[in-house]
Amino acid sequence: MTDLGTKLELIYRLRGEKVGSAIDELKGLEKTDRQSVVSYKEEKLRRLMDFAEKECQFYRAAAENTKPASNSTSAFEKLNRLPATDKWIIKKHLPDFICARMRASWRSTSGTTGTPFVFKKDRHASAYMDAMMYCAYNWHGIAPWSRQARIWGSSVGIRGKLVQKAKDRLLGRRRLSAFEMDAHNCRRFFYLLLRHRPFYFYCYPNAMYQFVLSLERLGLDGRQIGAAVVICTGEVLFPHQKEKIEQVTGCRVVNEYGSTENGIIAFECEYGTMHVLPTVHVDIIDPDSDGFGEISVTELNSRSVPFINYKIGDMGRVLDSGCKCGRPFEAFEIKEGRVNDLIVCPSGKKVYAAILAYVLKGHTAQFKVFQEKRDLINIYIVPETDYNPQIEKKIRMKLQNYLGNKMNIKFTPVDNIAPENSGKRRYFVSRII
Ligand SMILES: [Zn+2]
Repeated sequence: MTDLGTKLELIYRLRGEKVGSAIDELKGLEKTDRQSVVSYKEEKLRRLMDFAEKECQFYRAAAENTKPASNSTSAFEKLNRLPATDKWIIKKHLPDFICARMRASWRSTSGTTGTPFVFKKDRHASAYMDAMMYCAYNWHGIAPWSRQARIWGSSVGIRGKLVQKAKDRLLGRRRLSAFEMDAHNCRRFFYLLLRHRPFYFYCYPNAMYQFVLSLERLGLDGRQIGAAVVICTGEVLFPHQKEKIEQVTGCRVVNEYGSTENGIIAFECEYGTMHVLPTVHVDIIDPDSDGFGEISVTELNSRSVPFINYKIGDMGRVLDSGCKCGRPFEAFEIKEGRVNDLIVCPSGKKVYAAILAYVLKGHTAQFKVFQEKRDLINIYIVPETDYNPQIEKKIRMKLQNYLGNKMNIKFTPVDNIAPENSGKRRYFVSRII
């Protein structure tokens, strides 16, 4: 059985989550081949669908409305016949999705897209989610007990803050609140980390980017912290951010793609490939000629609320190519920006909002863009020190290359841009979609 360390063993035993045996199962899978992974997923999928059909009103009704599958139908074909879901559908029909007899706890998403979502997560699924995390993190030498520096959202209110601090201490974490990232707090966190000696950072890329820019401005050497890895999650990690974080901290920057509902979906290996993890099955809906389409996830161990054909609102593609790391998991690429993160131009052309980050990089410490009208975008920026009207002119010209000359671009310099309630930063908000 995999060693989790005494504290974690105890926590999981109290929670009734068999994380150690799940780690062994998932680690064993890493040494097999692609076909074994497909068979493993198919068997898990079959069990999930049988369970859902028996225990959940939504899937009982779905089964009655579809032609029964023949015995020779593969689990993947059967999956294709089941309806697509998303958080709005599950939220609206939650009692029809919940299996009450599973031991489970309530969880909720941060609601960065404007829709907080509350659902039940059972012990079986939680154990696999955590086990998968430990396995993937171990690709970069991180152990379950490795010390962590976290730049993240933080509880509000005195009681919430105290509970969070106690939990962080117990789990070897130190936290910088993404809500309070001024120079004073960044400096304090830096000195705290010199004593804590974290092995890795766990952070939103935008918050981490703010932190390293702050260190640079303060003349502090991020390499002194002595961390080895930075795991970025929850937001798009742009290449210029990755480069700067690597340069300031001396760490390897690793991209994680996941959701509160389903845990980690894909994770970057030591050769820079994102791999689809074996706790989920990913389908791509209506792929374009490059294979990119909307991501649909089936979480293979979910029970209390089965997540089947669950659309999470992002675009990506799955590739069958192999990787130098030798793991038999498919490669995965995420397209920058969510399905709704599109700038609609006066001509009707749609452009991924990620273009804003590429054009504004290097000139702004932070930015947030609102599309107010079909022909007006408003860019709030926290300027870098060398910012001047010439740079603004250059940015406008570059953006108009993509968005057309009829797009009006307004710049509003500000001192600070507050993050969302979760601590994430949404850089683009459309008010016309
Ligand atoms: Zn790999």
